[in-house]
Parts: sequence; structure tokens; C-alpha cells
Amino acid sequence: MLQGAIGSFLLAVLTFAQSFPEEKVTCACDLESCNNHTCQGKVCFVSKNLDSGKVFKKKGCLGKDTQLQCSSSEKEYATRCCNSNMCNENMNIFLEAEVQPETPTSLKNLLLMILVPLLAFLVIGMLLALSCWKLAQHRRRRLLFQHNNLGDTDLMLKASMAGDGVLEDLLNEDCTTGSGSGLPFLVQRTVARQIALVECVGKGRYGEVWRGVWHGENVAVKIFSSRDEQSWFRETEIYNTVLLRHENILGFIASDMTSRNSSTQLWLITHYHENGSLYDYLQRTVLDTEICLRLAYSIICGLVHLHVEIFGTQGKPAIAHRDLKSRNILVKANRQCCIADLGLAVMHSQGSDYLDIGNNPRVGTKRYMAPEVLDEQIRTDCFESYKQTDIWAYGLVLWEIIRRTVVNGLVEDYRPPFFDMVPSDPSFEDMKKVVCTDQQTPRIPNYLYSDLILTALAKIMKECWYHNPSTRLTALRIKKTLKKLSSSLENPKQDC
Ligand code: ADP
Ligand code: MG
Repeated sequence: MLQGAIGSFLLAVLTFAQSFPEEKVTCACDLESCNNHTCQGKVCFVSKNLDSGKVFKKKGCLGKDTQLQCSSSEKEYATRCCNSNMCNENMNIFLEAEVQPETPTSLKNLLLMILVPLLAFLVIGMLLALSCWKLAQHRRRRLLFQHNNLGDTDLMLKASMAGDGVLEDLLNEDCTTGSGSGLPFLVQRTVARQIALVECVGKGRYGEVWRGVWHGENVAVKIFSSRDEQSWFRETEIYNTVLLRHENILGFIASDMTSRNSSTQLWLITHYHENGSLYDYLQRTVLDTEICLRLAYSIICGLVHLHVEIFGTQGKPAIAHRDLKSRNILVKANRQCCIADLGLAVMHSQGSDYLDIGNNPRVGTKRYMAPEVLDEQIRTDCFESYKQTDIWAYGLVLWEIIRRTVVNGLVEDYRPPFFDMVPSDPSFEDMKKVVCTDQQTPRIPNYLYSDLILTALAKIMKECWYHNPSTRLTALRIKKTLKKLSSSLENPKQDC
């Protein structure tokens, strides 16, 4: 077979050579007979032949008396010739056997039918995904822009266009700090710097509360004195890490720290309630049973929300207030209350069994301290203990409310708890003697027992004042009882 192939090959080369003129050309040559890989001849050639699966390639010259064909191309051998100097150096040549078999047309069509729609589908899918992503990016950027440039354009625009309720909109957008109740820190700062303080509405033990105006809306600004900076830190921390939006918890807007005349000013900005604190409200207002119940119920709802741990992404740790009193409860326009002042609060998470007491040197208000706090028997490592002290204080607040409720035309003046047993600014020892040693509790006016609702409230109060903290009612228990009482007030016939 090899001899046959070589024979045909030589014949082809010789035949081709005869058809060229006499002049000589220099050709690339890899035959053994060539010097310096070149030779001179009438034409240059390249040849290839296939033997036992191997391809042999040759280059060289053809003389004038060759009789071979130059342009043969068969399955197993092929030649090509040219007639300029070194023209065969880079000349390519293919054997038929080297040419890949063509894909049958039907298969090609089939592949096309599958591949084209698949590709189109992929491209459309990618475009859709891209546009969704772009949309999400756009929304993110818009929100970020809002938050980072609140001082400038967007928020201003929003404020001037929307008028009232801009803060509400801002706080309700799902763009708060993530887990906390407030706006992103930068926004908090910007809002704080845009507030105009209008009037001082209260002076507490540790600072002042002002009515401020932000873009036409009233806000409350509590300015902490430097000796109570820990309360500011604690309250800011809690509001910014815990989702505390609840109608019976004072709504947080922003916290800000500024340096003025080399002193630090700490601001806490919250919703403003023109009725002021429950303490203020009870001084000037008497209540009917319905409002009494509404106030009591809304406070316990706020307390339940604080006390309960909520699991999940929208969750919160359990929180005990530790300074519940009528001055730390505000009365909203709808006569529902909200609990304020979380500067002393402790947090607890059951899952991680983590108790966060904070490091505030401040203690609760002596008048409202539970017996176990006064005799220093409270189990400070146990979260339940703190909740139980809140219940003691809730009982006292309930007592303050009840005294201002008119029953058969009878009502008492406002007085703080234990007003008839301790001086106006009682010391720790004064309170301890009355509450622990003498085991006194506030006196409940007799005339209240002529009203079923108030009798039920008096019973709750007493169950908040058990000396053994673990036997006191829980906030949830009180809430359920008050709910029943409220519905009996709304539908008196059903209750019979
Ligand atoms: P305290 O130190 O007695 O707890 P605060 O410093 O918390 O008092 O508040 C002082 C007073 O300012 C309150 O008793 C109340 O009259 C008023 N006040 C506080 N917060 C607000 C608010 N968000 N809206 C309206 N008035 C408020
Ligand atoms: Mg306070």
C-alpha cells in the first residue's frame, strides 16, 4: 500500500513539474538530499501522505524533467506546487482523510432547534434577573440617598410636600436601622439638627424636656444633664437595638450627641404628647370608669409588650422597666397611655440566657420601690425579679388612677403613693420602714367598692402588692383581666 501511494505521489509531482517554465526557483526543502534546507528547481512542492495512521509531510524542489502532477488530492496523499522563491515554506496542505466529516444537515437543524430557543430563554431570563436586580438597587439607592442626604433634598422635599405625618412616614418605612426602632443614625443626627426648640415643658430629676418643632411637627426633646448620661446611653441603646414600636411605648425618633461650648449635650427625641405625663394629667383631670379602665389597660399593654420576649426576625428581648411611675407614663390625645423613660431598663433573652443590666448607677424612684428592692433582698441575677418590681409599681400607678375616678360623685385629690406615710421627698430609709418594716400599702377609698369595675381594679392592685414577689400577678394576667373588664363595660348585657 505504501509503495502504491508513493508511486502515485511521484507521478503526480512529475506531471505537474512539466507544465512550468525553465527558470529556477529556490524552495524550502526538508529532504535528506538538500543543503541548508533549501534546493533549487523548476517548482517548489509540498506533499503529504498518510501511512498507518501517521502523516508524513515533505517540502522540496522539482526539476525540469519531472513528470508528476502537482495538484493531486486524494484520500491518502496530496501535493501542491508553487513557483516563486521559498513559496512552499509556509504552504499548507490537507489530505481528504484529515477533513472532518460534516455534521448531517438534519442533526444540525435539530441542534439549532434546541439551542436557539434555549439560548433565547437564557438571555431573556438573564435580562429579567438583571432588571429585577436593577430595580432593587434603585430602591436601595433611593432609600440610602434619602437617609444620607436628609439634610438636603429628599427629606426636605418630602417634608414640604407632605406636611404633617412626615416623621410617621419615615419611621414606618422599612428603612429603620434594621433591628432597632429608630431611623438610621445619620438620619437621626440630621433630624436632631433640624429641630427648633420652642418651650420647656418639664424639668425632671435629670434634665429638661422641651417641645420642639421639626418641619412643622411637634416633637419632644429630652435634654439629659451630664450626670445622667448613662440613662441617655441606655435608652439610646435600647431604642436602637430593639424593635420597640408599640402604641403604648413612647415612640422614639432620634438620639443625638452634640458638643456645645466644650460640654456634651445629649438629646433624646420622641413623639410629643401635649397631655404630658399621667402625673400631670391626673393633677388636673378627673376620670370616669371608662377612661380609668382605658388608661389602666393601655399601660398594662405597654408593660406586657416590654416584658414579653418575641422570637424571630421582628422579635425583641424581654425588657423590665425598673422605673415605672406616673411621671414616666404619657397620656396620648386618645386617652391611651404610653410608657416612657427606658434609661434604667434591663433586657433578657431566654435563648441565650443573657441578662443585660447595663451599667447605670441611677436607681429607681424610691417611692415606687418594691419591698425586695428596699430591703436589698432582690435577686439581681434573675430577670423575673425585675419584672416583679415593675408589677409592684404598676399597682401604685393604678392606685393613683383609681383615686381620680369619680364614683357616685365622690373623688379624691391627686396624691402620690404613700403620701400620708412618708415625707414629700422620702429617703430610702423612710420608704423601707413603711413598706418593709410596717408592711404598709396605700389605702383604698371605701366608696370605690360600690363600683364593680373599680372593685375588680382594687383586687388587681392588692395582688400587685404581695410581699412575696413571685406571688404577684404577671403583666399578662392583668392584661387579660382588664380586657375582660373592658368588654363587660362595652357589652354589659352579655356579661350577666
Ligand atoms: P422625670 O425625670 O420626672 O421622669 P422626665 O424628664 O422624663 O421626668 O420628663 C419631665 C416632664 O416632661 C414629664 O413629667 C412630662 O410632663 C414632660 N414630658 C416628658 N416627655 C414628654 C413627651 N414625650 N411629650 C410631652 N411631655 C413630655
Ligand atoms: Mg423620666
